[in-house]
Amino acid sequence: MRIIMLIDMDYFYVACEELRNSEIKSRPAIVGSDPKGGQGRGVVMTCNYMAREFGIHSGMPISMAYRIKPDALYLPLDYDYYESVSKKIMERIKGFAGRFEQVSIDEAFIDVSDKLHGYAEAEECAKRIRNEVLGTVGIKCSIGIGPNKLIAKMACEKAKPNGIKIVKENEVREFLSGSKVDELYGIGAKTAERLKKLGYATVDELSKASNMALADEFGVSFGAEIKAFANGIDGREVTENYDVKSIGREFTFEKDTESGEEIRSAIGRLSSEVMKDVAKNQVSFKTITIKLRYYDFTEHLHSRSVKVTNSVDTLIQTAEELYSENADRSKKIRKIGVRVSGLISYKGQKRIA
Ligand SMILES: [Mg+2]
Repeated sequence: MRIIMLIDMDYFYVACEELRNSEIKSRPAIVGSDPKGGQGRGVVMTCNYMAREFGIHSGMPISMAYRIKPDALYLPLDYDYYESVSKKIMERIKGFAGRFEQVSIDEAFIDVSDKLHGYAEAEECAKRIRNEVLGTVGIKCSIGIGPNKLIAKMACEKAKPNGIKIVKENEVREFLSGSKVDELYGIGAKTAERLKKLGYATVDELSKASNMALADEFGVSFGAEIKAFANGIDGREVTENYDVKSIGREFTFEKDTESGEEIRSAIGRLSSEVMKDVAKNQVSFKTITIKLRYYDFTEHLHSRSVKVTNSVDTLIQTAEELYSENADRSKKIRKIGVRVSGLISYKGQKRIA
């Protein structure tokens, strides 16, 4: 039995700002673009619960937020500072992990299957994590616990703010029932739209979908994965992502982009650079990971294992598939990374073609 947790900080950027400016606790506060007296462009990145009570939310145009609440506290993004806070938090969380995977600046999965026995222990552990992160760094978080990543992530959504939600294996079906397909972790807005057109708007409908129809629309493997998600099944592993034994390259776009062409050409360039280091180190690899950082600084990693290889074509093709299957097309991309891991040295051995 697997037990996976998703730990997600509550309104992270604002919480970071609170650490160094206690005034924020007592009034609506918004982190995002400069409102410029209502003329500003750009969006609200995040806001505290006091601002949310006025209907302000992340993603809202900053000019609209200003119309609603001109006397709120408007703060610019200070990403370096948030990253320094994030680092401290992640170090704490790692201490509780079996396996640890950071998925964005303020979110991490941990797999505690080998460390803990059962959900009661997991709940105790989750409480300790929350206390430790709050006690040492001063940030509140929510935790979802379940038999896989999908359920842990969705449980965490329900746990917010500042809660713990456990969904055990035998509770999965009831938990998912009544959800919309776009609430499934791993199904983006575009995929949800296509599913709706096929007649699958809810998770209940999708759980009984025709395999053939899904395969026609999404390909056999992604089609099967989508249906499995709707049934609460998710084989995605918690993968350690700060593996020193990996080779990667990243690229930040001059302007945030949603152009598939630009992104594919970046994947091609990054892959070629990665392959230079792969050749230099005389290794083959078996896992390919792409990292997508969106305009709003959320960051997602997508990985796939392949047969041990050192083929540039496999790298590019797999990276492109990971992009097209996972990217959230409703958001522009700021930065992209390509990484290979699971390295195997072929020094002195026959080269693997
Ligand atoms: Mg968060």
